[in-house]
Amino acid sequence: MEIFKDIKGIRDFVKRERQAGRRVGLVPTMGYLHQGHLSLVKIALESADTVVMSIFVNPLQFGIGEDYEEYPRDLTRDAELAASAGVAAIFAPTVAEMYPKGYASYVEVEQLTEGLCGASRPGHFRGVTTVVSKLFNIVQPDVAVFGQKDAQQAAVIQRMVRDLNMPLEIVVAPIVRESDGLAMSSRNVYLNDEQRRAGLVLSKSLGMARERIAAGERDAVKLRQAMVDFIKSEPLADIDYVEVVSRESLKPLEELAGPILIALAVRFGNTRLIDNAVVEV
Ligand code: AMP
Repeated sequence: MEIFKDIKGIRDFVKRERQAGRRVGLVPTMGYLHQGHLSLVKIALESADTVVMSIFVNPLQFGIGEDYEEYPRDLTRDAELAASAGVAAIFAPTVAEMYPKGYASYVEVEQLTEGLCGASRPGHFRGVTTVVSKLFNIVQPDVAVFGQKDAQQAAVIQRMVRDLNMPLEIVVAPIVRESDGLAMSSRNVYLNDEQRRAGLVLSKSLGMARERIAAGERDAVKLRQAMVDFIKSEPLADIDYVEVVSRESLKPLEELAGPILIALAVRFGNTRLIDNAVVEV
């Protein structure tokens, strides 16, 4: 496996792969890899011959007071995990390589970015769509794989690719969880033992929501309230949002019908965790 820190290096690598007739897949990450990331590599290898993983903690998608500085980084460990998963090349640029002095161009997706994480993290998705556009232009993959863990991000990127006629396929991969249900996240390392245990309230509340829908609940407001009450029964949990939205528009629903997305963000101390479930009603 090769590691490139500069744009020219990864471009030359991809050019060689293309010339050899290989289909190129991209898995964008911020590193500190876990099994969730590696599952994306596995899925990318199903439709690409060569998988490039980008590892870049993108300052543009972090707000003031968020965890950009503390975000866990370990390229040596990541390189071992990526190589064992079948990644052919890592692109791990510096901030100066991606945003040189005088940088002034941004990509924005409207509407889908207004609610959920977009509402509590102003500017976050502008940072995401800008860096992902840059990665697509640098690597020019045939396919890119994103995780359903970041449901709104996946929806926003699919919209951007459609709206801007970007010539690649987007694949969205299922959420990978720890054995007790906690969705894997690089941020889970921030949790102390108590918070780690309390964090189970996310997946449990989603399980409860699924059960209520299966039992006939069709009132989105009641379902949301039941989830809020359940999460509040955990003293360490501080709700950022709990939303029941249309899977297509990401707009809040009153009545449950069609494919819905139940999405939540909850703080445990300074750590903000997200989780979600898609349910076909
Ligand atoms: P991150 O490094 O957190 O920016 O995530 C990089 C990619 O991995 C994104 O497409 C995420 O949605 C995806 N991802 C993160 N955690 C998981 C998980 N537990 N299961 C599946 N995909 C994940």
